[in-house]
Parts: sequence; structure tokens; C-alpha cells
Amino acid sequence: MASLRNVVIIGSGPAGLTAALYTARANLQPLVIEGIEAGGQLMLTTLVENFPGHREGIMGPDLMTEMRAQAEKFGAELIQSHVTTVDVCTHPFVIKTSEAEYRAKTLIIATGASARLLGLPGERQWVGHGVSTCATCDGYFFRGHEIAVVGGGDSAMEEAVFLTRFATKVTVIHRRDSLRASKIMQDKARANQKIAWMLESAVEDIHGADGAVTAITVRNIKTGAMTNLPVTGVFVAIGHTPNTSLFKGQLELDANGYIITHDGPKTSIAGVFACGDVQDHIYRQAITAAGSGCMAAIDAEHYLDSIPEHLQSA
Ligand code: NAP
Repeated sequence: MASLRNVVIIGSGPAGLTAALYTARANLQPLVIEGIEAGGQLMLTTLVENFPGHREGIMGPDLMTEMRAQAEKFGAELIQSHVTTVDVCTHPFVIKTSEAEYRAKTLIIATGASARLLGLPGERQWVGHGVSTCATCDGYFFRGHEIAVVGGGDSAMEEAVFLTRFATKVTVIHRRDSLRASKIMQDKARANQKIAWMLESAVEDIHGADGAVTAITVRNIKTGAMTNLPVTGVFVAIGHTPNTSLFKGQLELDANGYIITHDGPKTSIAGVFACGDVQDHIYRQAITAAGSGCMAAIDAEHYLDSIPEHLQSA
């Protein structure tokens, strides 16, 4: 029989590790299944300057190493494994990895969302060195620079406008001649004198030297003309994909695949909680993810207190 755990947490970004810290300190001996992208999106960033308590900033991977060690210090068990199936239609819930099977009285889902990239050769290599998927995180590094934002949705408009606080010029590159963004967001971006537009255009290549982006090649989709655009930053804002394929058909998801939560981190199934970017397409910050991980842990603790005695030891 698979071992029965009080709490299984899937995912090890700020949400999952904060849930681990709190449930460990509540003496619940949580098991964290870290997943393929252990540490989450912060593993792809460089200096994080907006996580409170780090006046000089902290490198994303270092922040995650600290969070991991802090959770382990209080008794969280972390395993580097990948969940293959989850059954939340029975209780205790059943979680399988390729190596083992676990039963859980409560489940905390912190599987995050993955920022979509353009899929250009070498693009990943420039992430953290000029290519970014988060203006709030990285905009500050581009003070006085000329940069580009790729995308035509609300995120792209929001990021472009935000980035004009730092950059001298922001070129929005979008593949169609009309934007997907809401009118109000479009109007705000169009009224901004620092924003230039390259519509019906696609980024073909990213160039760099000495470990930093220096320019991109942009192709006009209609004419095929190629333009070399000297920029030091490329913000890819073409949407996120929530990592929820394990839960389709079991939990309520919204039209974009995000887990629907209510009263904080509660999902459509009692005892299953979701925190971080897997249920949040608006804030998407390390600190908000950590906050919601804390909420999930406290609610999991309350749920465990509320379930009948026979399930406590099932
Ligand atoms: P989105 O609405 O899905 O827009 C993605 C944009 O990226 C689209 O313009 C799309 O082009 C483009 N795109 C997708 N794949 C691409 C590719 N491979 N190459 C080039 N371009 C590509 O995503 P989002 O902007 O992140 O917004 C997600 C949700 O959050 C939306 O519901 C949005 O309203 C909401 N949101 C709201 C706010 C706000 O209200 N403050 C801010 C941000 C986001 P096409 O248009 O051609 O498909």
C-alpha cells in the first residue's frame, strides 16, 4: 500500500516551497514533488530586486535554494521527481510518479505556469541576459536602453507602457495588423510617445555579444523585408500556459486552463488547494505566489483538523 501523507505538494516554486515551509512548521511532514522545472520560473531569472528582505537583491536561483533549505530545515521532504498522474476523485488522493505512488489527505497544487517563448534557436540561452518574460522583474535593468516587446495582447501593452518608465524607446512587435489587447490598454500604449510599432512583424533572430543581447532581426510578414533592430532587451509577452494538464476533467479550470479557486486557495474539490501562478494569471509575482502558498498551507491544516477520524488514519 502506498504511504499515506498528510500533505503532498506538487511544484517547488515560491508557492510550493512556502506551502512546504508552513505545513512543515505545523508538524505535518509535507512531501514536495519538485517537478521537471524544480524551483520554477525564478530559476530562469537573474537578479530579483522586488522580493522583500533582500535590499541588494538576490539571484533567482539563490532565492530558491534558500527557500528549499528553509522548508527542509523544518522537516519538509523534497523529492526530485515528476508527477505522471493524479486522482483527486477518490480520498485519500492518489499521486503517481514514474518511481512511486503516494496517497494524500490533502493536496497542494503549485505547478505554476510557463511563459511562452517564441521558439527561436538560442532564445533560451538569452533568457536572463536580455530576453525576459517579466517586465516587473527585469524592467529596471534597462534604464536608458532601447528595447522591444513581442506580443499584441493586454500583457504586451501593459509591459510596454511599464517599460517606458526605464527605456528610452520600446518597440512593440506584433504578428498581425490589429492588436488583441482591450481598447483601453491599446489606447494607453498608443498614446505613449516612447512606444514605436512594428505590426505584421515577427522576430526572426536574436543577436548578442559578450553575454548580452545587442540586436534582433525582424521580418515584415507581408513584404518579407528584414530589419535589424538594435535593442538590448526583448520582452516576450505572448502569454503563459498554466501547468494543469494533470487536473483536466477533475478540477474546475477556466477557459485558459487556470485552476479556479475560491475563498483563497480552495479548488472545486475539498482538500485540494491551488496556489501561485497555476491559479493566478494577473499578479504572477514571486511574492504573491509565496503568499498564496502560505494561505494554501493554513487551509490544508484547517481541512485536516476538520475531516473525520477514520480518514485521518486511512
Ligand atoms: P493573450 O491575450 O493570449 O495574447 C497573446 C499575444 O501574443 C497575442 O497578441 C498573440 O497574437 C501573441 N502571440 C501568441 N503566440 C505568439 C507567437 N508564437 N509569436 C508571436 N506572437 C504570439 O495573452 P496575454 O496578453 O498574456 O493575456 C492573457 C490574459 O490575461 C488575457 O485574458 C488578458 O486580458 C489578461 N490580462 C489582463 C491585463 C489587465 O487587464 N491589466 C493585463 C495582462 C493580461 P495574436 O493576437 O495574433 O493571437
